[in-house]
Amino acid sequence: MQYDVLICGAGPAGSTCGRLLARQGFKVAIFDRARFPRYKPCGGGLTGKAQGELEKGWEDLVEDTTHEVVFYHRQEQPLRVTSDRPVVRMVSRERLDAWLLEGAIKAGVTVRDGYPLAVVTETETGVAVGGVDGHTWEGSFLVGADGARSLVRRSLPFQTGGTAGITLECEMPLDAGHLASYRGQVHLSYGGIPSGYGWVFPKGDHLSVGIGSFTRQVKGLRRYFDTFCRGLGLKVPANLRCRGAVIPAAGGQGGVFHTRRALLVGDAAGLVDPFSGEGIYYALRSGRLAATAIQTAADGGGGLEAYSRQLNDELLQPLHYARRIARVVYALTPVVHRLVTANPEVARRLVEVLFGGATYADLWHYLRERYAIFRLA
Ligand SMILES: Cc1cc2nc3c(=O)[nH]c(=O)nc-3n(C[C@H](O)[C@H](O)[C@H](O)COP(=O)(O)OP(=O)(O)OC[C@H]3O[C@@H](n4cnc5c(N)ncnc54)[C@H](O)[C@@H]3O)c2cc1C
Repeated sequence: MQYDVLICGAGPAGSTCGRLLARQGFKVAIFDRARFPRYKPCGGGLTGKAQGELEKGWEDLVEDTTHEVVFYHRQEQPLRVTSDRPVVRMVSRERLDAWLLEGAIKAGVTVRDGYPLAVVTETETGVAVGGVDGHTWEGSFLVGADGARSLVRRSLPFQTGGTAGITLECEMPLDAGHLASYRGQVHLSYGGIPSGYGWVFPKGDHLSVGIGSFTRQVKGLRRYFDTFCRGLGLKVPANLRCRGAVIPAAGGQGGVFHTRRALLVGDAAGLVDPFSGEGIYYALRSGRLAATAIQTAADGGGGLEAYSRQLNDELLQPLHYARRIARVVYALTPVVHRLVTANPEVARRLVEVLFGGATYADLWHYLRERYAIFRLA
C-alpha cells in the first residue's frame, strides 16, 4: 500500500510527527514493534520545555509535581533546592505514549503496533519498509523514530555523532504512607557512578528508581544500583524487576539527520541531553520540526536539508554547552558538590536550566565567570 509518510516507531517523536502530518492531510502509517500501551524504561520526568510541546489533556496524566530537588554526592550531603513554581511533572511513559498515539490515530494515522520492521530502503523516487512477515510498505517519505538502537539510522547514510550510555531502571512499589514522604520531590545523586547519576522519582503508586551512565564503559550496573538504593535507605525487594536500556547522548558537534527522503527524530537522532538525560522534550520537538520539514518539501519548498540545519541550530547547539558542563561536573563531582553547597545559587540556576527556565549557555557563562575549574575545561 502507498503512503505519503512511513514512520518507524510510535514513541513521543513518531506519534507527534504522525499526528501533525495527518492533520495536514498526509496519508501516514506508524509501525511499532511493541503492542501499545507498552512499558518504556524512563523516569517520566516532564520538564517545562516538554510540557510546552504537549497539547491540552496531558495534565490529566500527571502523577506527581516536583517543588523540591535534593542533590547528593554519593548518597550523602543532601542539598535541597526548593521552588515555588513546579519544576518538573511526573508521568507514566506507558500512559503518556499511549495518549500521544491515540492523538495520532484520531488525526487519521494508520497504526500497526506489535509489528517489528526489519528492512528499510530508499530510492530516488520513494522509500519502503519491510516487516518481519515479509510484507512491504511504500511511501514518499520516511521518519526514523525508532529509538536509541534505530534500524532506520543504521540502514541509511545519516551522520550522527554523540555517545550511547547505559541505564538500569525499576518501578519500586511502596506503601502509601512511605510513598507520601517522597511527594513533591526528586532525588538525584552524583558521584556514585562514573559520568552519571542515580534518581528517585515518585509516581502514582511506586517510585521510579534508576541509575545511568553516559559512557558504556561502566560494568556491573546492578552493583551501582544496589549501592545507590542502600545509601538512600530504599529497601530493594528480592524479586524487583530492573530493566536495562541504552540512552543516547548528543555530542558536541552537529550532524546530518536527513537523506533525500528520510529524517531521524528523537533518540534515533541521538537527541538526549548529555548532562541530565532529558529526551522527551527533544523527541517531541524534533517530531514537530520533522513534520514541518516534510510538509515544506512535499509542497515543493526545497529538500529536507533545512531539517538538519534546524536541529543543529535549535537543539544541538545549546546541548554543546550541556556537554561542556557535564564534562567538568562528572569528572570532579566532590569539588562541584562542595562548590554548589557553598553557593546554592549555582544549584538554583542548574534547576532553572534542567527544568526549562534558562539555557545551558547562561549557566556555562555564569560558572566560567566564577570558578576556575570551568575556565580550565
Ligand atoms: C532509564 C531512562 C530514564 C529516562 N528518563 C527520562 C526522563 O525522566 N525525562 C526525559 O525527558 N527523558 C528521559 N529519558 C529519555 C527518554 O526516555 C527518551 O529520550 C525518549 O523516550 C525518546 O523518545 P523517542 O520517541 O525518540 O523514542 P522511544 O520512546 O524509544 O520510542 C521508539 C519506539 O520505536 C520502536 N521501535 C524500535 N525499533 C523498531 C523496529 N525495528 N520496528 C518497529 N518499531 C521499532 C520501539 O518499540 C519504541 O516504541 C530516559 C531514558 C531512559 C533509558
